[in-house]
Amino acid sequence: MSAQDCIFCKIGGGAIPSAMVFQNDDVFAFLDIGPIREGHTLVIPKQHYEKMEDCPPQTLAAIGAVLGNIAKAVVEATGADGYNVLCNRGRAAGQLVQHVHFHIIPRTEGDGIFHRWPAGKYKPGQAEEILRRIREKL
Ligand code: 5GP
Ligand code: ZN
Repeated sequence: MSAQDCIFCKIGGGAIPSAMVFQNDDVFAFLDIGPIREGHTLVIPKQHYEKMEDCPPQTLAAIGAVLGNIAKAVVEATGADGYNVLCNRGRAAGQLVQHVHFHIIPRTEGDGIFHRWPAGKYKPGQAEEILRRIREKL
């Protein structure tokens, strides 16, 4: 998808209205239109990149520089106890908008969001094998 057809480019550039939470030269944050819960916020680079790994380091640095502060504000404003920062990358992971974004989801004890965390266990040798394959790709 090109930047011209991208809804988040239009939101970040102000062409489509949104409930803006924060912006600076590089970063735009706004309320998710379909909140998992009140205060659910999206943080995006103003430049169009589809995936996190497409972003140049300075873009990720610009996001990283404000993400924690925005998340803290969201938590304090909503009276939540914590938050999740989530980046859905790829269709299998639930990425519906092809412009990299970070969800800030305020959390309260027992709220039932992400209720299932299907933790597994490595078989003998399995961790070493996947470790080797991941390291090879870096
Ligand atoms: P994804 O599934 O791609 O990680 O998340 C995309 C998010 O963008 C969804 O939670 C969805 O509600 C939100 N979203 C999609 N279109 C719009 C829009 O036009 N405005 C706002 N504020 N949020 C949007
Ligand atoms: Zn875009």
